[in-house]
Amino acid sequence: MKALISVVRIWVVRVASLFYFKNRSKVIFYHDIHSDKQYTDMSTPIELFKKHINIVRESGYEIVNEITNTKGQIEICFDDAFLGLYDNIELIKEQNIPVNLFVISSFLEKENHINTEQLIELSKLEQVTISSHTKSHKTLNCISENEAKQELKDSKFELENLIKMEVTSLCFPEGKFNCNVIEIAKKLGYIKLYSSLPGFYIDEFFPNIKKRSLVQFSEEKEFKAILKGGDHVLGLWYKFKHFSK
Ligand SMILES: [Zn+2]
Repeated sequence: MKALISVVRIWVVRVASLFYFKNRSKVIFYHDIHSDKQYTDMSTPIELFKKHINIVRESGYEIVNEITNTKGQIEICFDDAFLGLYDNIELIKEQNIPVNLFVISSFLEKENHINTEQLIELSKLEQVTISSHTKSHKTLNCISENEAKQELKDSKFELENLIKMEVTSLCFPEGKFNCNVIEIAKKLGYIKLYSSLPGFYIDEFFPNIKKRSLVQFSEEKEFKAILKGGDHVLGLWYKFKHFSK
């Protein structure tokens, strides 16, 4: 059943992509990359990742730290801060690929994740932006308001303390959020909030929320269709799954 849904999803995205040719800016995201050692089953083989980067650049997009234009720019995110990105950081440096790394602050030192020393090292690279993925990866719309506040506050404080830089972006664990979470995050000084709703960068339903398309296992045709925005049609369905008032 899962395989069938995945095939249908890919075809919906591919057909929908035929209607978009406008090179609109997008955020794509992964969990990790690996060559020899794989730290999570959500990790992308490095050859597939390289292929994605080539497609992005050959399609005329610029990979940027921060999208500033509604067209022609791609932002790349990595969630959870697994060790594979650190292991393969030479590729990121050599090919000058800006990445936004969303770190779960209490997972530093945890098995298969980067430690504080590695975090500091990464934060000094011009290609890497460090952002928050909360303190302990709790689903924010399933916990109390106070607990959510603590998750966002502690993580920002702990990360900033380590990297000596401001942390102003947040992405929601499992993509789940609600109106309260948005308000809390804004009050705590988070400027950019990233969801896992697929589609173009600008969201007409939530102007303050950045959409992101998960591409970690996308083969060439699906990836090209997502780049064109074919998954934008799935946004409403994901909004239903990920957002509660
Ligand atoms: Zn996560």
